[in-house]
Amino acid sequence: MTSQRTRERLIQRLKEQGVSNQRVLDVMRVTPRHLFLDEALSHRAYEDTALPIGYGQTLSQPYIVALMTELLLSLGPRRKVLEIGTGSGYQTAILAQLVDQVYGVERIKPLIDKARARLRLLGLRNLRLAHSDGGFGWSENAPYDGILSAAAPNMVPDELLHQLAPDGVLVIPVGSGEVQELRVITRQGDSANFEERVVEQVRFVPLLSGLSR
Ligand code: SAH
Repeated sequence: MTSQRTRERLIQRLKEQGVSNQRVLDVMRVTPRHLFLDEALSHRAYEDTALPIGYGQTLSQPYIVALMTELLLSLGPRRKVLEIGTGSGYQTAILAQLVDQVYGVERIKPLIDKARARLRLLGLRNLRLAHSDGGFGWSENAPYDGILSAAAPNMVPDELLHQLAPDGVLVIPVGSGEVQELRVITRQGDSANFEERVVEQVRFVPLLSGLSR
């Protein structure tokens, strides 16, 4: 189930869906997605589908992970990236292999604990995780060259815009319904102006405020 052929088929599917960044495809090919799932579900790890990780949350669909990562890197390499909604840690693992330093925040304590253990097992060290509310970003380490949110707010929190470095890119689903808009928001140089475009319709869990133990 977790064979090289199964993984290769997933990469082929991502290409067919328009993912073209070779570095993103290469990293997704070698990252063991099955390690981010409970054993009972790990045989489905290389299907292009979102899968439950407990606590009412899901591990994002591989296509969505690839698309968001590609969008984050679309203006060139990113040094420091903030990830909101670490969940299983899979997206964190992908990012850690593509940028210098990843900061991840997650509001559900058991999820961040599990993610931390898995990422350590994989030997990924250029990351820091925190149990905190990502709606406020993570100001201590700001500014970020990129911010990626795996949970959808109704409106883009100002804090996230404020924590973007010059020419920083924010990739975020926005909306209150079942379906949201995936937006790419780019800070224009070091100004307080932001360019915004809608990429496609997506389905994410809502960005909730406050922490869960
Ligand atoms: N990238 C993750 C996606 C998990 S789903 C993965 O592939 O596994 C989105 C996650 O966002 C959930 O784990 C949810 O608990 C988290 N989340 C929701 N609101 C949040 C907030 N305000 N701060 C931090 N994390 C949040």
